[in-house]
Amino acid sequence: MDMQLKNKIACITGGSVGIGLAIAKELAREGTHLAICARDEERLQEVAHEIRNEFRVKVLGVKADVSKMKDIQKFATEIEKYFGGVDILVNNAGTGSAEKIMTATDEKWYSYWDLHVMAAIRTARLLVPFMKKRGGGAIVNIASVCAKQPLDYEPIYNTTKAALVMLTKCLANELVHDNIHVNAICPGLIITPDWKKTATILGKDLGITPDEYLDRIAKDLAPISRFATPEELAKFIVFICSPLAAYCIGSSYYFDGGFIKSI
Ligand code: NDP
Repeated sequence: MDMQLKNKIACITGGSVGIGLAIAKELAREGTHLAICARDEERLQEVAHEIRNEFRVKVLGVKADVSKMKDIQKFATEIEKYFGGVDILVNNAGTGSAEKIMTATDEKWYSYWDLHVMAAIRTARLLVPFMKKRGGGAIVNIASVCAKQPLDYEPIYNTTKAALVMLTKCLANELVHDNIHVNAICPGLIITPDWKKTATILGKDLGITPDEYLDRIAKDLAPISRFATPEELAKFIVFICSPLAAYCIGSSYYFDGGFIKSI
């Protein structure tokens, strides 16, 4: 199927590993040029080089911490200089947390608010004007199943991802007549390097292998009893980014193997 993404330009935050990298590669496979950012510049530039060689698309890699306004501004400026604009924005950079509400500091709350919510607001504010000039575009915010069904160890993650889902709905309504479709994706268990690291540490504590730990988590949390790969998820996200999904406005799509227990 032609996804109508050839020669489009996509900006992906946190595009150097895990889900962001898989989205970058799936878009590149469609002939989309990329602007990706992350904090670890060496890994980012290696990945940019790899994607250029494999898919023959243009890839701009910019070191940026999207929880900081000045870095987002720098990223947007570089995108404008290199590509002159952008058609697709994927707000992917994010991470889990571990705390109790009674003891977490204001600073911790603000840092996750900046990373999961303000980054999506700021990137939209800076990049949507380019989309408007180009006649439209797409924004995909990577939230989580935890936006709907919280995990008890990460209230800050749950709360900020839920806010991102509401932001998605509001922004979608604001931009619908600019031919920009905005949606959120709520993944469940996706096997990324971060999960493998966690499984190694927590599995050791329990006296089991990383694979046994991951198997236990999958059986406990997802009726399908397995993790998804980032590549499986990325194919779904590429469709939501594409003009084929233009009628999808302000929705949250679960990709979770049955994780969510309610309708
Ligand atoms: P990873 O930790 O594997 O990758 C995160 C990516 O984001 C990396 O490229 C990282 O690079 C970058 N990143 C992290 N923080 C920042 C920052 N402040 N500024 C810029 N880049 C940053 O994460 P996943 O692939 O697992 O997760 C991606 C998204 O999907 C997140 O929003 C996460 O909450 C969500 N998600 C993941 C699930 C899962 O099971 N994996 C389930 C549900 C949602 P660097 O460290 O160099 O900055």
